[in-house]
Amino acid sequence: MSQVAVNVHERVEAFLKGTKKLYINGQFVESASGKTFETPNPATGETLAVVYEGSREDINKAVLAARQAFDEGPWSRMSAAERSRLMYKLADLMEEHKEALAQLETLDNGKPIQETLNADLPLSIEHMRYFAGWATKIVGQTIPVSGNYFNYTRHEAVGVVGQIIPWNFPLLMAMWKMGAALATGCTIVLKPAEQTPLSALYLAELIAEAGFPNGVINIVPGYGETAGQALVQHPLVDKIAFTGSTEVGKTIMREASKTLKRVTLELGGKSPNIILPDADLSRAIPGAVSGVMFNQGQVCCAGSRLFIPKKMYDNVVADLASYSNALKQGAGLNPDTNIGPLVSAEQHKRVLGYIEKGIAEGAEVVAGGNNPFDRGYFVAPTVFAAVQDEMTIAKEEIFGPVISAMPFEDLDDLIDRANASEYGLAAGVWTENIKNAHYVASKLRAGTVWVNCYNTFDAASPFGGYKQSGIGREMGSYALNNYTEVKSVWVNMN
Ligand code: NAD
Repeated sequence: MSQVAVNVHERVEAFLKGTKKLYINGQFVESASGKTFETPNPATGETLAVVYEGSREDINKAVLAARQAFDEGPWSRMSAAERSRLMYKLADLMEEHKEALAQLETLDNGKPIQETLNADLPLSIEHMRYFAGWATKIVGQTIPVSGNYFNYTRHEAVGVVGQIIPWNFPLLMAMWKMGAALATGCTIVLKPAEQTPLSALYLAELIAEAGFPNGVINIVPGYGETAGQALVQHPLVDKIAFTGSTEVGKTIMREASKTLKRVTLELGGKSPNIILPDADLSRAIPGAVSGVMFNQGQVCCAGSRLFIPKKMYDNVVADLASYSNALKQGAGLNPDTNIGPLVSAEQHKRVLGYIEKGIAEGAEVVAGGNNPFDRGYFVAPTVFAAVQDEMTIAKEEIFGPVISAMPFEDLDDLIDRANASEYGLAAGVWTENIKNAHYVASKLRAGTVWVNCYNTFDAASPFGGYKQSGIGREMGSYALNNYTEVKSVWVNMN
């Protein structure tokens, strides 16, 4: 191991020692109840770290701190340029700590280090930089109203935002939430997922080092039904931004409506990925495999309903199976690993349950279908053939490394089938025909359509769902609307 690698390893080991504290009002504190919870390493099932468990009382403290930083300052009194500088500083510190953050994320979530280093971390850092740039560019309008009046709009920060995130991209999801909120001048209480609280707590140290004023960003790990619910119900929170399951999203919307909080939701999906007869199969097949297997299939926009022309079906399915079988599965820290363990014992059981259901309903396993190791939460990359639209594995979000391959004959019939889902998060189409590409992209009811690619992201491009995949958009300039109120000011010029 090189000296740099040793230093990173030591830094991560040092971070994992002791019980990790909540970050409230610029201080690292124990939970009010003194309760803790364990976060396991999914590659082994052994305890990785112990974390203080935030509950209603801790959330209340964090909300009061965020409220004060917003209402009385200093955050609300700082110029946009000063806020922007702090955000750039945080991005620079994340870059400096990139390897340690990547290792920690891999240890806590299970995902391969090649992904955390080459996807999660660069995307997270660039996200913060992109929104740091926006802080100084949020402007209103002057409006030519009738009469002798001067009318203009101010785009003002919504206020205190509660942000609740899932475990599949812990750091990236934190950045997706924090970037737009900080750029617009909001203050934050973030609740990471109970399965993966560590990178957010490491981030808290960088937030403190960057010099953010106390109370601007508070990080309170804890369970959804306690800490999460307390945040959604708190009367002094102005907005909730949530990423997670559609089921919990509905509960959050119901609870938030009691105090009429602004709500944005990024929820589940069952995205269609369509290979047209004229596709370049040398790109479409590996693209379709990585469109599902990336992050062990624990991706909300995974292209898990794969549509293949009937006349090519058997050959494509055989190639899908060989590409899937060639993926190297193992512990995430091994640099050769392409596919790691699932995040938790619960998720492992859930995904294996879907595989059993697929078999019971008559689909055929042509790759994977089992746990290849005797410990850790692994599921071998799995391909199902002979899948019918009405089977459970073709309808429900599995959130695991499972492809459901389905044949089609007619393009318009295919579009109806692709749209026949309660979800509408993303979709993909593989074709060398430009007319078909734009036609299919226009017809699919989904927030993102990828043509001849899958799972490409950029902080500048919006992401979010149609139908039951969510409300609102994150990323790009569109995200700013979710964090601002528009005030119309009338000035009598007579
Ligand atoms: P989940 O809904 O169970 O949990 C997500 C978060 O919500 C966690 O922090 C959890 O503690 C919290 N939570 C749970 N119950 C709560 C409650 N009653 N009140 C407040 N907070 C509560 O989802 P999960 O299993 O952790 O994540 C997987 C899901 O997330 C999948 O359905 C996936 O599609 C979705 N997801 C969507 C996107 C997107 O951008 N659309 C991105 C990633 C994941």
